[in-house]
Amino acid sequence: MPTDTRKSAWRVLLGYVRPHRGALAVGALLSLTMGATGLALPLVAQDLIGSLSQDESISGALMLLSALVLANAVIGALGGYVLQRTAESVVLTARRSLTSYLMRLRISAVDASEPGDLLARATSDTTLLRAMTTESLIGFGTGGLTLVATLVMMALVDAVLLLVTLGVIVVTGVVIGLIVPVINRASKRAQDSVGEMGAALERVLGALRTVKASSAEERERRAVHAAAEESWRASVRAAKWRALAGNTAGLSTQVAFITVLAVGGARVATGAIDVGALVAFLLYVFYLMAPIQEVVSAITQYQVGSAAISRIQEVRELPSEPERTAAPPLPTGEEKPASVAFRDVHFRYTPELPPVHHGVTFEIPPRGMTAFVGPSGAGKTTVFSLIERFYDATDGRVLVDGRDVGEWDVAELRAQIGYVEQDAPVLSGSLRDNLLFGAPDATDEAVAGALATTRLEDLVRRLPDGLETLVGHRGTKLSGGERQRVAIARALLRRPRLLLLDEATSQLDAVNEAALRDAVTAAARDTTVLVVAHRLSTVTSADRIVVMDAGRVLAVGTHGELVAGSELYAELAATQFLTASA
Ligand code: ADP
Ligand code: MG
Repeated sequence: MPTDTRKSAWRVLLGYVRPHRGALAVGALLSLTMGATGLALPLVAQDLIGSLSQDESISGALMLLSALVLANAVIGALGGYVLQRTAESVVLTARRSLTSYLMRLRISAVDASEPGDLLARATSDTTLLRAMTTESLIGFGTGGLTLVATLVMMALVDAVLLLVTLGVIVVTGVVIGLIVPVINRASKRAQDSVGEMGAALERVLGALRTVKASSAEERERRAVHAAAEESWRASVRAAKWRALAGNTAGLSTQVAFITVLAVGGARVATGAIDVGALVAFLLYVFYLMAPIQEVVSAITQYQVGSAAISRIQEVRELPSEPERTAAPPLPTGEEKPASVAFRDVHFRYTPELPPVHHGVTFEIPPRGMTAFVGPSGAGKTTVFSLIERFYDATDGRVLVDGRDVGEWDVAELRAQIGYVEQDAPVLSGSLRDNLLFGAPDATDEAVAGALATTRLEDLVRRLPDGLETLVGHRGTKLSGGERQRVAIARALLRRPRLLLLDEATSQLDAVNEAALRDAVTAAARDTTVLVVAHRLSTVTSADRIVVMDAGRVLAVGTHGELVAGSELYAELAATQFLTASA
């Protein structure tokens, strides 16, 4: 939603507050009521003292006083609770909204971001909206209201002294106006550094084996600490200027007191006002201190919050996919297999990088197995990314079922496809979770079938809790070959009309590889199967082979045709291994 992103921080905050505005109003009302009962206390006390001197019974007044004190405490606690609860709900709303958006980010946006930094924005930056709600939103309201009420009372006492007081307030306002942008910049820097720390930590924890094996802990630790220390420095800078702003507010009431004393004294001397009025006015000047400080802290807290909001809004500027309320239905397995075609496709990942595809063209009819071969970096994985619409072709057309992928509903397009990415991960959770990930409604029979096809039955039998065994993070680690078979089973359970296997059997031993080749060949009878493979054995059985090099299709044909017709293919075939492409 790029149109939303340049809204002021207030408007963004109010957007998150809107669903909770009723609760917020109740909380604010309770707080104001507490303030009013507090104000009534001196009056009741005054009454009570009056009764004492007149020798009247004070039990009634005492009971009223006790009731007021109790009501004040109860209403205060309730109001505080409702406000904090509302502030937490605002944080929840922001987190829901931002994480939904994160899930819809385009792959290109995720590729260009640090996951640890995105994580910090969803967790740490959203937390700052809590203080922004209680201190800024409420502070402006109650502080501002009290300030105005006090100024009105002052006006009733003496207009000239009010002007003097306003003069001091305006000067204070100007000084704080100068400090505020510094607080904003420092807060933004502090939060950016938290993001950098997240990114640095993610880098270490995501590749801890390599970090340790490379004896790089010390260097990586320094990088993480440097980000943490930079956040500390920036936060301290922000704290310094916030303290200064707070003290400026305190100082301004002292200055107002002295100025009012001087000007008021002169006015008393000339008889413009009496001493009683001057004393009353001076008392009001002291009453001003609390609301002024409340408003100033609302302003400075707003700067901290708006720095966080600008980081949240930066995420919303990243390109995303359309919102969907429900996953589209998966194929039932009865439908006709898909066809795929590339027509003069040109593609580059980013404008700064050289093109990866220079006019790729091929036609794949429904059914059968098509193998993509070629040296590493030829652009084979990129072909699959364009079919899945992780990226859009720069030029030319990518067609599925004769329809440009750009015209498909992207979720519906993906529902047709089973995709095993290169180095497909095992997700943390049980083995069953992993298998059902792409087809939550698959039956037990279907799961058993997929396990048999991918020869995972032995593994399931060996695991302590069978299908319920936890795998991935905090669970049993699977070998590379087991991971690949789990990924293939996961893709098969979707009953895809189009199956994309990117080096999905590269880590299997010869026996398992042969078994899976048979399974894929069987699947290709009612599914269109595209495989990227470097094993000659996988490729020779393909119905057609697309030979790619440096972003171009050099030849298309069967193994027999290509051995004679394609120099590159003959060379690759001669080495048995059609190059290990990473
Ligand atoms: P293959 O699968 O044939 O080995 P790829 O399609 O993965 O080749 O990559 C083709 C080229 O595109 C390579 O030069 C690679 O460095 C580049 N490339 C791949 N993925 C990205 C990406 N996400 N961002 C930028 N460049 C990429
Ligand atoms: Mg690849």
